Amino acid sequence: MRRMNFTDTQVATSETARGINRGIVLNLIRRRQPISRADLARVSGLQRSTVSLITEQLIREKWVIYGPTGRLPRGRRPTFLRLNERRAILVVDLRPEITTFAVSDVNGRFLSLQGMPTPSSPEAATAKFSAKIRQMVDSHPELVFEGIGMSVPGRFNDSRQRVVFAPNLKWPEFDLREPLEKALGMRVEVENAANACVLAEVWFGHAEKTRDMVVITVSEGLGVGIFSNGRLIRGLNGMAGEFGHVPLDVDGPRCSCGGRGCWEVFASNRAALRYYHESSAAGNGPSFQDLLSLAESGDSLALKALDRMAHAIGRGTRMIVAGVAPEEIVFVGEFTRMWKRLAPVIESEVAAAVLAGEPPKVRPAGAEPSVARLRGSVALVLQKHFGPSIVTENRGFAASSQAEARVQ
Ligand SMILES: [Zn+2]
Repeated sequence: MRRMNFTDTQVATSETARGINRGIVLNLIRRRQPISRADLARVSGLQRSTVSLITEQLIREKWVIYGPTGRLPRGRRPTFLRLNERRAILVVDLRPEITTFAVSDVNGRFLSLQGMPTPSSPEAATAKFSAKIRQMVDSHPELVFEGIGMSVPGRFNDSRQRVVFAPNLKWPEFDLREPLEKALGMRVEVENAANACVLAEVWFGHAEKTRDMVVITVSEGLGVGIFSNGRLIRGLNGMAGEFGHVPLDVDGPRCSCGGRGCWEVFASNRAALRYYHESSAAGNGPSFQDLLSLAESGDSLALKALDRMAHAIGRGTRMIVAGVAPEEIVFVGEFTRMWKRLAPVIESEVAAAVLAGEPPKVRPAGAEPSVARLRGSVALVLQKHFGPSIVTENRGFAASSQAEARVQ
């Protein structure tokens, strides 16, 4: 027997059992669909009557629909349940240069995808984003939209409802949530990009049972999302995970945060480009994508620049191993295209940081960076419904005392 991990839905201990049971059933349907009521009861450990009451409610609310009818050698034909794919989420991946918009169903499948250059200010972004979102929602009249999920290259301060630290975006502190909610009449959830990637792994990846995981996103900057003891760690002001701005060399290059020699200035895509420029006479520099292509074609200077970047990624990862001791470290970034070459460099640094016991598993994310951030934004909206925090009014519902289900 092992305990099933439902903490990805941010279980609060004070939630009522029926809310928790509802989350358990919804997540089991999501993971194992199509699934019969009998299997839901067996896998969750909940009583069949409890499962029936919950699924009836989910069907009434149109979260769940009947799937195909199963066939047994003899006896009754069980009716399978699955998520209603007409429930959709509009997701936004705000990056320093390009912002991507997608329509996703509840299973994280994208139905349409569009991009635009990121506007230069939050005010301009509100106007352009709401027009784009309205247009995308209108083009899918068959769908019921649950809300908007947005990942940002900064930290979201939940108590102040603002993005408070986004050095690579070069915007001042901003609030896109309220203006967009006002303009669109839909609920908007905002999350840091690295935290969104954690949610993507937990919801749509293979990390269903991992309780201690760190996701490191490497792009223009370097972000860290910490999933510890089954919870996303946000910290004071939402600022947890800013390992990228720990100075590793106080005499190092200037960082976008105003400091010097941060981990990020040695380990980001920008760092690799700087290493390449330092060693090559090339005038107009390549993009990071070009640098990867050069490396793939065997360009020794490009390979050297990426090796230096990987060493810096590994060196900084030692802070995380020593401080957080995750089971798993997942990397999100274009550099993972070169994973075969760069992984041993990172793995040896990680192994050297382990003071006792096994080293953590180190791997690239299941999805490419933009897809990971968008999927994480889908989970951001879904967890409001699938999580046990949603307690809806229902009649004649006997709450079970089980706070956590058991699976065999
Ligand atoms: Zn910095």
